[in-house]
Amino acid sequence: MDRVDCIVIGAGVVGLAVARKLAQAGREVIVLEEAEAIGTITSSRNSEVIHAGIYYRAGSWMARMCVNGKHALYRYCGERGIPHKNCGKLIVATNAKETEKLQSIKAHAEANGVLDMQLLTGEAARALEPALACDAALLSPSTGIIDSHAYMLSLRGEAEEAGAAFAFHTPLIRAKAAAGMIEVEAGGEAPMALQCSLLVNAAGLAATTVARNIDGMPLDRIPPAYLAKGNYFSCNAKAPFSHLIYPVPEPGGLGVHLTLDMAGQARFGPDVEWIETINYEVDPSRAERFYPAIRRYWPTLPDGALMPSYSGIRPKIVPPAVATQDFLMQGPRDHGVAGLINLFGIESPGLTSSLAIADHVAELANI
Ligand SMILES: Cc1cc2nc3c(=O)[nH]c(=O)nc-3n(C[C@H](O)[C@H](O)[C@H](O)COP(=O)(O)OP(=O)(O)OC[C@H]3O[C@@H](n4cnc5c(N)ncnc54)[C@H](O)[C@@H]3O)c2cc1C
Repeated sequence: MDRVDCIVIGAGVVGLAVARKLAQAGREVIVLEEAEAIGTITSSRNSEVIHAGIYYRAGSWMARMCVNGKHALYRYCGERGIPHKNCGKLIVATNAKETEKLQSIKAHAEANGVLDMQLLTGEAARALEPALACDAALLSPSTGIIDSHAYMLSLRGEAEEAGAAFAFHTPLIRAKAAAGMIEVEAGGEAPMALQCSLLVNAAGLAATTVARNIDGMPLDRIPPAYLAKGNYFSCNAKAPFSHLIYPVPEPGGLGVHLTLDMAGQARFGPDVEWIETINYEVDPSRAERFYPAIRRYWPTLPDGALMPSYSGIRPKIVPPAVATQDFLMQGPRDHGVAGLINLFGIESPGLTSSLAIADHVAELANI
């Protein structure tokens, strides 16, 4: 059996950031990826927003990783010329009740260390975005957008420069913890056997399945898995906005918001659709719920402008009745298996947090 120092399962944005971190710390790293390329699953099915860290529960991993990850990500992109834009976001209130809520959103953001939020009157918001209908707004200057593929290519390149190797079409089949080492069986038709001292499970939607396939991993430490699909609609009319536009959140979700890609193309979503099995089709009839929601802040959205676009699936570890979850990042102290790190529930803001998550994995591994 071949021996390798570290194995990372999954070459999504999180696995890539972890592989880079470990390789740059001088560790020998192999990334095992089931698909044919990097970042083909959730990491290419998201909004590509660099989140500020506004809503997450104060003190949660999401709040801390998002704020730290955001600063690290802006620095990383700036130093390497990775396309990104610090375009800012407006949270818009369209009635008196929502206007009142903006103040508490600002206070919550401040508790998370997001100190640059600005309350705007409707007039001041319209000076920034003339097509906007709103009574008041909250400006988040540190929100931005990123070309996530350019970012992932850069992470892979730096991981490889530091010596990491990538094996595609190579799913982890099973693993076994034995005598302080982990034995891994991976691959398709001709599976390979490897032994490692550190195994990082960054398999995204499959992280709970991967954990169940590790002999020795206590089953009661593996969270349940649920799927919450987010559907997007693109807009065939030119959206006259340069900031991301979000309504005041409603219970259960952020509301139908507008994000922009690096080419300035607007998309709406994601909504929340709980599903039993993975499928990425977007049901065109869901547009009927989008139109009235969008017209509250963009009344001139033309009829027929929304086209079904793409979807992504949130790796949930709490059921629909539970409003929020946190990242669940387990090291040996949490589950008792030497050399194993599990990353569960890495939904949004996982892209924003990726560099901070990689730092935390290194801490869990005592690197
Ligand atoms: C709708 C939606 C919108 C989002 N918007 C944003 C946003 O705007 N900003 C933000 O910060 N975050 C956002 N996120 C979150 C972000 O996309 C994810 O947190 C991030 O992409 C997770 O990356 P990952 O590497 O953990 O998972 P993935 O990208 O899913 O990668 C996991 C990899 O593991 C591989 N794999 C699975 N099983 C195995 C196996 N057995 N063996 C080997 N490989 C395996 C998969 O093929 C895959 O490549 C959004 C998420 C969703 C769903």
